[in-house]
Amino acid sequence: EQERLMAFKDKKAQTKDGHQVEVAGNMGNLKDVDPILANGGEGVGLFRSEFLYMDRSDLPTEEEQFEVYKKATQKMGDKPLVIRTLDVGGDKELPYLDFPDEMNPFLGYRAIRVCLERDDIFKPQLRALLRAGVYGNIKIMFPMISSLDELLKAKAKIEEVKAELKEEGIKYNEEIDVGMMIEVPSAVMIADKLAKEVDFFSIGTNDLIQYTVAVDRMNEQIAEMHTPYHPAVLRLIKKTIDAGHAEDIWVGMCGEAAGEELLLPFLLGAGLNEFSMSAVSILKIKEVLTKWTVAEAEKESEKVLELGTAAEVKEYLRKIAK
Ligand code: PEP
Ligand code: MG
Repeated sequence: EQERLMAFKDKKAQTKDGHQVEVAGNMGNLKDVDPILANGGEGVGLFRSEFLYMDRSDLPTEEEQFEVYKKATQKMGDKPLVIRTLDVGGDKELPYLDFPDEMNPFLGYRAIRVCLERDDIFKPQLRALLRAGVYGNIKIMFPMISSLDELLKAKAKIEEVKAELKEEGIKYNEEIDVGMMIEVPSAVMIADKLAKEVDFFSIGTNDLIQYTVAVDRMNEQIAEMHTPYHPAVLRLIKKTIDAGHAEDIWVGMCGEAAGEELLLPFLLGAGLNEFSMSAVSILKIKEVLTKWTVAEAEKESEKVLELGTAAEVKEYLRKIAK
């Protein structure tokens, strides 16, 4: 099988009828770039930057971050590299930041909420990203956006940092793309407003499912309920894609669901433009893509959106799988 799949390594990700999408990889550490490229990844759809902040006793400096982002983008060449700003809190703790204990960490002080309050954390990262953006195709992505205000504040922070870099005479990428994750249901409901303010959306199904179905993504006892096949989740995905396309921005997915073979006809038919997953799934997804035409997938997508339960959705997708 591996031999058959390797045939897709250097081929563009496209459907049977030649419609192109991007199949990309998710990464945490610099060394993760290699398996993504070795498996035919066309970009990085999610660089979880928090890994730079873990297993150490203090915040990484701007310079340290700059070096890592620069190396990563140089390795990727002109392929897109979406770097997510720090997504700390929830399941990702940083002991040295010494945040207060919370009743509900996943609903608490995390990610963009922390960054917007802490210039000492956010600004060095934004500076490093803007500077590294000179060396390749880096795109900045904000996690956990739940309102338009947060997005506008985060964007304003980028402008502030750009002005400072300019003032200091330091080179940076003025044209860098800025996008956001869609992983909170409130963001889906106002996606039409958010889409006017960003260059792209990337759907984070891991958290989107957790917040939509009210099911802790870490709790094994209810792990079965944490499923992308829930019709509510599928409808939120569709709504996000439509809202993005109405404003002519691309919509990707970097949650685990993007690498699920069974879901591919649904996501393709719903109009998803970019699929970002762990490196090991890339070739398989590229292969499955070639078995579908857009028209076929669209028809199936509409049917799936009419189903009432996750079990029905899964059964239906199994039946039509090629
Ligand atoms: C997600 O929530 O789907 C996602 C991709 O981000 P993370 O898993 O890092 O929270
Ligand atoms: Mg997330």
